[in-house]
Amino acid sequence: MSPIYLDNNATTRTDPAVVAAMLPFFSDHFGNASSQHSFGVPVADAIRNARKKVRTFLGAALDQEIVFTSGGTESDNTAILSALDTQQGRDEIVTTKVEHPALLSLLDHLRTSRGIKTHYVGVDSLGRLDLEEYRRALGPRTAIASAMWANNETGALFPVQRLADLAHAAGALFHTDAVQAAGKIPLHLKGTAIDMLSLSGHKFQGPKGVGALYVRKGTPFSPHLRGGAQERRRRGGTENVPGIIGLGAAAELAGARMAEDHMAIRGMRDRLESAILNTIEHCFVIGDTDDRLPNTTNIAFAYVEGEAIIHNLDRAGIAASLGSACASGSMKPSHVLLAMNVPMTTLKGAIRMTLSRENTQGEVDRVLRVLPEIISKLRATSRLWRARARPEPVMQVSPVEMAP
Ligand code: PLP
Repeated sequence: MSPIYLDNNATTRTDPAVVAAMLPFFSDHFGNASSQHSFGVPVADAIRNARKKVRTFLGAALDQEIVFTSGGTESDNTAILSALDTQQGRDEIVTTKVEHPALLSLLDHLRTSRGIKTHYVGVDSLGRLDLEEYRRALGPRTAIASAMWANNETGALFPVQRLADLAHAAGALFHTDAVQAAGKIPLHLKGTAIDMLSLSGHKFQGPKGVGALYVRKGTPFSPHLRGGAQERRRRGGTENVPGIIGLGAAAELAGARMAEDHMAIRGMRDRLESAILNTIEHCFVIGDTDDRLPNTTNIAFAYVEGEAIIHNLDRAGIAASLGSACASGSMKPSHVLLAMNVPMTTLKGAIRMTLSRENTQGEVDRVLRVLPEIISKLRATSRLWRARARPEPVMQVSPVEMAP
């Protein structure tokens, strides 16, 4: 039986059409795009074409607003560092408690190395941003506000256009990490106040190690990687040509398939989720189910360890994940679920299943056959489950003890 992959927020399989588009750029078209001869010119043309595809995918106004990078992490880092360089007299950052480590670990480093202050805005129990707190955190010293478009663990969406307007009203720049949103929901940048946006190819069936930073025309910018004149001097270094071609191809495919994929993936996710909720007791969905990515479900199973679930699913040929893949292995509870105030006992039993266009209804059926058995097997050996099943000892309270 072929394995089932339900970890598409960690990474996706590169689409065969994307691989086919990339292959000639390893061998036939190996030239350097900066070369003025016949080996370089077609490569520069192909990069130009890929830039146009990414621009169209993002609904941005101009091709030149797209800067190719090595992925989401580099794009996030570049946006923040650039703002600190260019926003004279402003040395603070506003972000959220649930951002990806690609951003949070940079902010932590900036605090310890440069004393840069960051305001971390909280979320409610459904993962929705506290807009009042966000508004209050912005001020005359804010260089940039950064909030993710979609959360990688819960799929919760933030109202980034509104957040961008509020940041501008305070004179700050606005950046969004759209690594998980891209390819799953439409992003129309033209006409928004979003100054910068991060994108990563491997989250929407493109290659790994390539991404883009959208920089709206007129946004002050300072490069993170300085070197040659590549990317209009905004990102030095010989371009990852096959990666960029792959990113362009993946963006074109994702854009063309978006509406159809959205419906199909959401249908599978919803069926999976509601069948689990209906057949397994003491489990519930974490996060806002109204406003979230169509492919993501984060379900907590009380009285069991998420790690044990993941391990058993893996043995049954089903790959799911425990919280964020980028943080797995660290054993620390997910900072996202902690920020949402999910109780420790619940948080421990949370698993994330994230679908893509490659999943099938047959796979959903198989998960639904396997998962209830795994949960009841684990609960049968769970001390917590047995303790819960035992009747509560009856408390004898005397009238005297009950007095105030
Ligand atoms: N931002 C988010 C929301 C992510 O989910 C990830 C990866 O999981 C990243 C940034 C990092 O992207 P990359 O792997 O391209 O560096």
